[in-house]
Amino acid sequence: MNVNDTEIAWAILQKNGYARTKELDEADVILLVTCSVREKAEQAIWNRLQHLKALKARRQQARLPLRIGILGCMAERLKEEILHREKLVDIVAGPDAYRDLPRLLAVAESGQQAANVLLSLDETYADILPVQTSAGGTTAFVSIMRGCDNMCSYCIVPFTRGRERSRPIASILQEVRMLSDQGVKEVTLLGQNVNSFRDMSEVQFQSAAAPVLSRGFSTVYKAKPGGLRFAHLLDQVSRIDPEMRIRFTSPHPKDFPDEVLQLIQERHNICKQLHLPAQSGSTRVLEAMRRGYTREAYLELVHHVRESIPGVRLSSDFIAGFCGETEEDHQQTLSLLREVRYNVGFLFAYSMRQPSKRSASELCGRNDGNIKVIFPDAEIEDAVGCKALVRAQPGDYVLVKVTSAGSQTLKGVPLCRTSLSRSAACH
Ligand code: SF4
Repeated sequence: MNVNDTEIAWAILQKNGYARTKELDEADVILLVTCSVREKAEQAIWNRLQHLKALKARRQQARLPLRIGILGCMAERLKEEILHREKLVDIVAGPDAYRDLPRLLAVAESGQQAANVLLSLDETYADILPVQTSAGGTTAFVSIMRGCDNMCSYCIVPFTRGRERSRPIASILQEVRMLSDQGVKEVTLLGQNVNSFRDMSEVQFQSAAAPVLSRGFSTVYKAKPGGLRFAHLLDQVSRIDPEMRIRFTSPHPKDFPDEVLQLIQERHNICKQLHLPAQSGSTRVLEAMRRGYTREAYLELVHHVRESIPGVRLSSDFIAGFCGETEEDHQQTLSLLREVRYNVGFLFAYSMRQPSKRSASELCGRNDGNIKVIFPDAEIEDAVGCKALVRAQPGDYVLVKVTSAGSQTLKGVPLCRTSLSRSAACH
């Protein structure tokens, strides 16, 4: 999605007279397209900004201004922090604000910081033909829908990329035809939930019945009637060029009706490879993740897919160490992996997220106002005025003298262990 977002942002900037350079030293503007799914991805951007800080300082000395922008999900999630931390960043643009980039850059030119993180209910960039970053390449991404309505409990996507919306089929077909004319041999249809595609732009299809979900699957939202669905789109796309391979990612296992499976089986140019993100093999954990299916329903889908598309290759995503996961839950995930025998698996340790970084030698608690307070794990008085020294344990109340404040956390020095009534009195 971020490669495709980069191409969309490029198309918008190119139309507004910007030219691209691959040489960092030549750039007047540097835009970083970011991801927030895991904390590590965000940390990579903070590290990158530290490198750019030195470059920007050199430019300032030479009176050659350099503008730095953060685009995408991290911009959406951490707008305030990005703008305030070291004042390095000039532009912040969320995933639905790329059309606003020329204006944001104009504001930045005048020396002010500029931000737009408004999420849209209908932005699909349908009329913007992305500038392929690998011109002359044989493969291309085509974005068909954006956002997600599923609200899995571990996932930030619905909050950074907004509600689910689909691009009109006509504009998708136009783009695929253009790519075919350019000699592109493989197109990947893209979306957060690519097979939940629902084009509501054609009036005569707006009252169509809601599709049936895969057996045993449910959603947190009400059934969505109307619109042209993924099977229709896949059918149309696959007819454009019999020599062009069609792939799609990333699907949700709930949206694999029989007509989609049948189409994949019948059409020689639709790749016989399905990504079926399971996330866990334990029904208990799946429930905590709010995935909308059980282990049994998932396995039934796998068997049905294999019956419908003989020889299909399967891949999946898994998260290990989700909150509350036990060894037994983990063993169930391993047994699911053995049972399904995927061709490829994307396996991740659950990414704990902290508003701020604290080292192993620091402790963290929350004050009455629910703000995180970080303090050194040092010996403290067991009670006010008490000579005995202790170390704070989980569950203890600690009186902390706050010495500094970040945008989302406070830092301080621990004074003594206390009780709730005493700390309230001290307050
Ligand atoms: S379906 Fe995918 S994108 Fe949507 S909330 Fe769940 S994990 Fe996130």
